[in-house]
Amino acid sequence: MLVPSNPLGGPWRPPEAIRLRALSLGAGVQSTTLALMAVQGEIGPMPDCAIFADTGWEPQAVYDHLAWLRSPDVLPFPVHIVSAGNIRDDILAAASGRRWASIPAYTRTQTPAGEIVGMITRQSTTEYKIRPIRRKMRALVGLTRKRAPRHPVVEQWIGISFDELTRVKYSSDAWQINRWPLIERGMTRRDYLRWLERRGYPLPPKSACLGCPFHSDAGWRAIRDDDPEEWADVVEVDRALRRGLRGIHGEVFLHRSATPLAMVPLTDTEKTGQADLFLNECDGMCGV
Ligand code: SF4
Repeated sequence: MLVPSNPLGGPWRPPEAIRLRALSLGAGVQSTTLALMAVQGEIGPMPDCAIFADTGWEPQAVYDHLAWLRSPDVLPFPVHIVSAGNIRDDILAAASGRRWASIPAYTRTQTPAGEIVGMITRQSTTEYKIRPIRRKMRALVGLTRKRAPRHPVVEQWIGISFDELTRVKYSSDAWQINRWPLIERGMTRRDYLRWLERRGYPLPPKSACLGCPFHSDAGWRAIRDDDPEEWADVVEVDRALRRGLRGIHGEVFLHRSATPLAMVPLTDTEKTGQADLFLNECDGMCGV
């Protein structure tokens, strides 16, 4: 059995028994570039499909871009859409005491020692992205409710780039391996943006849940300035969080400053304001 080489240590060597190559499609810049590079024959072999895990709360621009990717003559392989529910509805339900898969929101808690600002442990990526994609991959290779082989039969392509190396995470399942073709090519954000531009492709939108607390100040500002309806939506959810969430002490906020989103000036540059925190999302499933 050939073992795939570490993408940081040499050329990719595919295992022999692969029955399915599935591209994890976030419909953002990186995963779109990955899909289009496969179309152009620059990465191979051609994936059998792409899988988009829909949290139900992506910006409209992402859904529009996904529709373009699924339109005839763009990708030669199918794009499956899977879902574990609507994360926005589940967050609002959690404010009424229901069980939820937590997002990495911020808390402000009063303690005898003073006020503490903290971050809630993130479960949302696993619940809304990793598990539904994993379930779909197992179904596509006929492993639903079956014992999986102890060698890789599924290869999952993940669209993180060379400047996001900290997000590389190996699969814990023996039946599945992860592959990072942009990293194999040493491509950084600058490289893949140039690649898209040179071939005349539209610049894909930023893909992530609309109210993801990992947004940079620039990301929040873009929502506020470009789409008043989406801004009103995230401000409403942020306000609802203050009612308290099941199992969480203190007030909850979407912005790192632990203040109401509507009141954050968001005037700082990327350098001094809240930076994009998607590098903390070590699975490479969000924001790509
Ligand atoms: S984009 Fe943010 S809120 Fe959505 S699943 Fe990923 S980490 Fe969670």
